[in-house]
Amino acid sequence: MINNYLNTDLKFIKGVGEKTADKFYTLLNGGQIVREILYHFPVDFLDRTYNPKISSLLDGTSPVGKVATLKVEILQHKKGYKRSPYKVICSDGTGRIAIPFFNVKYADWIREKLPTGQVRVISGKVDKFRGELSMSHPDYVLNEKYFNDILIMETIYPLTAGLPNKSVRGAITRILNHLDRLAGMPKSSDRKEADITDEWIDKRMIGQDDFPSWLEAMKAMHFAKDRDALEPDFLPRKRLAYDEILASQLALALLHRDERELKGISTHGDGRYVKKLLDALPFDLTTAQKRSVDDIFQDMATPKRMLRLLQGDVGSGKTVVALMSLLNAVEAGGQAVLMAPTDLLVRQHFKDLFELLNKAGLLDEVPIELITGKDKAAVKREKLGKLASGQVKIAVGTHSLFQDKVEFENLTLAVIDEQHRFGVGQRLNLVSKAKENPADVLAMSATPIPRTLTMTIYGDMDLSIIDELPPGRQPITTTTVSVEKLDELTLSLKSKIAEGEKIYWVCPLIEESDKMDFAAVETRFRYLQERLGGQVAFVHGKTEKEERDAIMQNFKNPNGTVKVLVSTTVIEVGVNVPDATIMVIENSERFGLSQLHQLRGRIGRGDKKSTCVLLFGSNVTPIAKQRLIAMKETQDGFVLAEEDLKLRGAGEILGTKQSGFPRFKVADYGNDKELFYAAKDDVKMILHKDPYLQTDRGRALRCLLKLFGKDKDLINIIAG
Ligand code: ADP
Ligand code: MG
Repeated sequence: MINNYLNTDLKFIKGVGEKTADKFYTLLNGGQIVREILYHFPVDFLDRTYNPKISSLLDGTSPVGKVATLKVEILQHKKGYKRSPYKVICSDGTGRIAIPFFNVKYADWIREKLPTGQVRVISGKVDKFRGELSMSHPDYVLNEKYFNDILIMETIYPLTAGLPNKSVRGAITRILNHLDRLAGMPKSSDRKEADITDEWIDKRMIGQDDFPSWLEAMKAMHFAKDRDALEPDFLPRKRLAYDEILASQLALALLHRDERELKGISTHGDGRYVKKLLDALPFDLTTAQKRSVDDIFQDMATPKRMLRLLQGDVGSGKTVVALMSLLNAVEAGGQAVLMAPTDLLVRQHFKDLFELLNKAGLLDEVPIELITGKDKAAVKREKLGKLASGQVKIAVGTHSLFQDKVEFENLTLAVIDEQHRFGVGQRLNLVSKAKENPADVLAMSATPIPRTLTMTIYGDMDLSIIDELPPGRQPITTTTVSVEKLDELTLSLKSKIAEGEKIYWVCPLIEESDKMDFAAVETRFRYLQERLGGQVAFVHGKTEKEERDAIMQNFKNPNGTVKVLVSTTVIEVGVNVPDATIMVIENSERFGLSQLHQLRGRIGRGDKKSTCVLLFGSNVTPIAKQRLIAMKETQDGFVLAEEDLKLRGAGEILGTKQSGFPRFKVADYGNDKELFYAAKDDVKMILHKDPYLQTDRGRALRCLLKLFGKDKDLINIIAG
């Protein structure tokens, strides 16, 4: 019963109707059913408790614009003519107020609603003009018995055109009242499905004894009486947030559980290629790298499917670890792929791997191929043929690699870089592809993201963290400099260049305009060229690929002529120039923390001391200032990521283009941190105790998954 009701189309709700229903669908971004509108929460309050005598409105301080609720007797209707409105004159015995209606079309309705001689309650904005008091088009015109019902703090919902607050409030109120009735009805003893009256939260376990039930929480949110209900700590909100987080993490864990349970492969490399690689490297692995490799090799050896996330800041040495894993797969007779979300990243990976294989003299034994969406058809066909025949051992490509026609002879390992940047749809695609083959999965991420966000994408994946930079790295000094000191800065760079140091100079991307961007980079280039001479070059998104590659090569070459590279953020990913020791970031106040961190990661790669100069303009907001301070204080990407979450809130982080993180309706990545951790433990416990959700709580959890529409993908999985 209740479950059916929650899935009812809104157009069937009393007082909604087909036409208004369309407005509701728009409001809910396509959401159409009862449970979806319940997650549309008030964001503000309107005070309707102001209930003055009309005389005081006439005599006291100006009431204009105030919302008042009045009990009045209707004295007289005055038909409008020409431009003047239809007016209803009312009185409360102490004075008069007019209710003007500017659309005379409704005259019948007005006469019916406000009959002469009767008492009515009206509520709306008061106006006063030339001593005459008025309330045009009141929000409410009601029978006097409803006086106390509207004399309240009224909840205000986010709205859409043509849908007044009254309608949204009314529909939700009716729905909740109906749910309340349904919930109070006796339950049939043979009901198979749990519903919202069953509790799916183990309050004890997560230390939240005080959490109200789902229905109580919903009522507390929608029938809220004061602003406390808008606070992040409002207990009913916390409860509903926990629901949402739990549903999301449980769904993810069930998916992963399913993947893990698929037939896996037991990969035992004999170490011959890995040894060649290690022998060719001019360094020893760090402890953190070794630990990660051990984790990965152990996972690969077991017949279960590996689902592991390798996390490490830029420059922590993930590439070597990834390559060792790929080689392990190849040694055991398998093939491996490495996927990344953008063409640029893919090319960089390919180049890195190719160079390392080349150094190790492995190119013949371990053929590697780059596959991109940009390959010409014939070329692509040939490459794919080599994958299918097993001739190519390692393939590097964008996600297009995993699209339709790609066949492998024996794929045993997939390394997926920056998985969160794949869209949600693509990720699901990867999952379903994974179902067709049992390859081990190693996700890899250099983006330090707050833990709460990691959980929503990678869920319960096993985690290896490279939390140690290779030895010999000099810490980077970070300074902030006003752009007014540009001349001095440039002058000081001159001597650095003379000493053989190289400089990145980054101008911010101007999102809306390629042209302005280009102009900004070019202007700065001219300025620097004038002062520093021919050793300055610039690249821009518009620069031809060949020219750009040539410039980058020159900049990278220890004997190259380019010493200062001016660019937009195109150099953000995948550049490795150990000689570069200075990074100047212009208008650094406009960058996000993660981006600043990424950029800074481009320097400090050699053994020389490096400096990051954050140039700031005249318009530095307090938050931007905090960001720059954070940059000066730490070099730890994960600390910065948490700081970023605190400063910007999740909304903005999620708003960035590259993000594939789920957006929550109630939960907040920053404010509800503790709930994310609690849910993580909870999910672990659930999967351990009740893996197919068959206990009473398990059945209630199925209801929770349904509440968030997460059941469809999971039906087969929880069917067991
Ligand atoms: P990531 O992929 O994590 O950003 P890379 O794998 O590109 O980092 O490594 C950055 C640089 O550090 C590379 O030049 C690499 O050769 C070097 N490197 C990697 N591991 C070590 C190590 N253990 N000791 C010294 N240098 C290392
Ligand atoms: Mg395995």
